[in-house]
Formats: sequence, structure tokens, C-alpha cells
Amino acid sequence: MTATGRALVVAGPGEVSLEERTTPVPGGGEVRVQPRVVGLCGTDLEIVDGAIDPAYVRYPLVLGHEWCGVIEAGGPDATAEVVVAEGVVPCGRCERCRQGRTNLCEVYDEIGFTRDGAAAGDICVPTRLVHRLDPAVDKTAACLVEPSAVVYQALTRARPLPGWRVLVIGDGTVGLLALLLARLWSPAVVDLVGARRAQAELAMQAGADAFRNPQEGGRGEYDLVIEAAGTSPAVGAALGSARRGGVVLLLGLPSHGETTPVAGDDMVNRDLTVHASFSYTSSAFGEVASLVGSGTFDPSFLVTHRFPLEEWQQALEVLRNPVGRRGKVVLEL
Ligand SMILES: [Zn+2]
Ligand SMILES: [Zn+2]
Repeated sequence: MTATGRALVVAGPGEVSLEERTTPVPGGGEVRVQPRVVGLCGTDLEIVDGAIDPAYVRYPLVLGHEWCGVIEAGGPDATAEVVVAEGVVPCGRCERCRQGRTNLCEVYDEIGFTRDGAAAGDICVPTRLVHRLDPAVDKTAACLVEPSAVVYQALTRARPLPGWRVLVIGDGTVGLLALLLARLWSPAVVDLVGARRAQAELAMQAGADAFRNPQEGGRGEYDLVIEAAGTSPAVGAALGSARRGGVVLLLGLPSHGETTPVAGDDMVNRDLTVHASFSYTSSAFGEVASLVGSGTFDPSFLVTHRFPLEEWQQALEVLRNPVGRRGKVVLEL
């Protein structure tokens, strides 16, 4: 008899269900991993709703691109190895891959987007993308390696200098991770603008110097503004909050096709540098995996909601309509 397990399948926009799936058999160069913690994010909602650019998703798919799992080792005394895996599957041969810009691989392929994700009993992933962590690592922290790598990659492009004034717009997990990670570059100030007052406590825990609402905006002008809300008003606010010569980092993902009016002359007069950052390179993911693996970077306090796989509907609902303080929402398998 073939072994089976349940998987959270998105057959197409609006069609989500738990399905019984046969255990996948690893192909050449692949390893089978049992996911343990799977984080959900706004992008998962966009996949569920069909609000994502169709070029970046292939239905049907198993949801889950932020995760950690274990590899069952042989023998009764062997401990399971805790692993995380890069979600972007680079070809390794194209020009971009050879430049190390694996996030821009010419053959776009990503776990939880164009191939099955981790909200399942088992997943097969290319062995070369797997990073082994200390077995004692907090699995909740480990499932945050993926979204942290997205933020870290963006920050390496902005190259903040010590003493900079930094503003983060957006109080979701990406914004909170941006607060935490920006501290690695020794800024003078990191403020957060968020619409949900209930997030203030998490923002302060993540190291915010001030939590302000969108009507108040930031405190003056900033050297670096990170847009992490993924809405066009937030993109506008980010462009408007940078000082002359400042840097704006676009990290949030507005719905496909949503546009933002921009005053071109104002951007020129203010000599702005705008980076829009997509995903992460292999090297950014590896650096974050070792920061989390060594305990140097521990974002696990950002996980506020845990659900078993069977309660996926409640998990998506908390993500869609948060009540009170809400950081990362995870499924536990
Ligand atoms: Zn995500
Ligand atoms: Zn490539």
C-alpha cells in the first residue's frame, strides 16, 4: 500500500482544501523532508485569492513557502536533522545564476508558487538548496528564515550606513522583521508607521523607537524608508518620507496591477534612489540560515498564532482579518 498524507492544496483561485496525497518519491538530487512548522503570509492569501501576477504561480499547488522540517535519519537512535530550504530553485546555469543573482534566475521556479509547497506531510526538495541547522534550534524561529531572507536581501541592496535614520512603513511580519534586521546595520533611529495600534507592542519588542499611525506619518525625514505594507498609499508615503538623497526600498507586494501615482519631478529634485527587491539570493538565504541557526538572530517572538494543519481555515481568517496583536501565523504539522 502506498503511504499517504494530507496536503493543503490550492486547486485554483478560491479553491482551497485538505487533500489526501501519496507520499512523494524524491527524484535525482532531491531529498524528502517532513515539514514541521509552516508560516503563512499575505502572499499566500494572494495565491488563494488569485490576486498574484499569474507569471509567478502555477495552479494547482500545495501552499507553504516559509517553513522548516526534519529529515528522518536511519537507525532508531539517530536524531532527526532540522533543515530549512531555499524556496527559489535556481537553474545554476543562466547568466543571472552565474552572477550570483539567483533570485533573478531566467527559469523562475519557486516552492509554494510554481511547485508544491510545504503545508503537507512530506515535500521533496533539491538537496543543494537544503541548509542543515543545529537540532536544538527553535523550529518556530527556523520557519522565519525564508521571510527574513527576503528582508535581508533588500537591506543588502540598500546598504544602510551606521547612524542612518530608518523608517519602516507597514506593521505586518515583513515590517516587524525589517525593524529587527535593520538593527544589524547600527542605525541611529528606526521608526515604524503602522495602521494597527495593536501591533505597537510587537513593534517595540522588535526594537522600534516610535510607533506612529499613517495619519501622523514619520518623525521628519529619513535616510532609508522601507515600504513593507504592500499598498499603493504606503508606496506613496514611502517615497514622500525620504530625505533628499535618500533611499527607498520597496518590499511589500501590492495586488497585481495596482498602480501608485508618482510625481517624477519630485523624485528627481529629491535625488531619490529606489530599490524594488524580489525574493533572495542563495547567499542571502544562507547567511540568514546561519544567523538563525547560531541563535544570533531569533525572531521567534513574532509568532503569535499557531494552528494545526486541519485548522487552516481559521489560520487564513486570522491572516485576512486580524483582531488584536498579530505577528506571524503558523501551521504546525
Ligand atoms: Zn511569505
Ligand atoms: Zn538560472
